[in-house]
Amino acid sequence: MKRKIALLFCMLSAVFLLNCYGQSSTKTENAKKSPEYSRTDTSKVNVSNKDWQKILSPEVYNVARLKGTERPFTSEYEHSKEIGTFYCAVCGNALFKSDAKYESGCGWPSFFEPISKKSIVEAKDNSLGMSRIEVMCGRCKSHLGHVFDDGPPPTGLRYCINGVVLDFEKAKTAEKKYNSKKKANSGS
Ligand SMILES: [Zn+2]
Repeated sequence: MKRKIALLFCMLSAVFLLNCYGQSSTKTENAKKSPEYSRTDTSKVNVSNKDWQKILSPEVYNVARLKGTERPFTSEYEHSKEIGTFYCAVCGNALFKSDAKYESGCGWPSFFEPISKKSIVEAKDNSLGMSRIEVMCGRCKSHLGHVFDDGPPPTGLRYCINGVVLDFEKAKTAEKKYNSKKKANSGS
């Protein structure tokens, strides 16, 4: 009898855990199917579009590999003020920190600088009759968005990025620090 109860308890725990993990972002799960996905490996990724198409969700594939653009004002990250790091949803490369994020009002998540010069690559883009600078992931060369020179100080740049190709991870320690600072400020 005791064994049966223990077994039941185990099964319930498993169901509970599965439910919890099931709530995480689906696009992350899609990307994580890729054997190339890593938040620690910085070696370059070379995968053909034919293979990426099998790995990525259609939304991510369209933006990342076919240089598409998500509809403006649709990204969950556009107004997000959470503290943490934005990674490439395709390969896991760290791209932007939340402290470089700002509200540009342009309809897409905007940043004034990438984590490092190596985290992204830029290229001239003369498509659609416009002269723009394309921004790609420095590790897997997935299309992320464009960079414009109408951003805020200190860089004056606006990295206008499709939210669908970003994965966000909350920084727990940073958040704690931020909250205690807020508390201290409100107390004074
Ligand atoms: Zn990438």
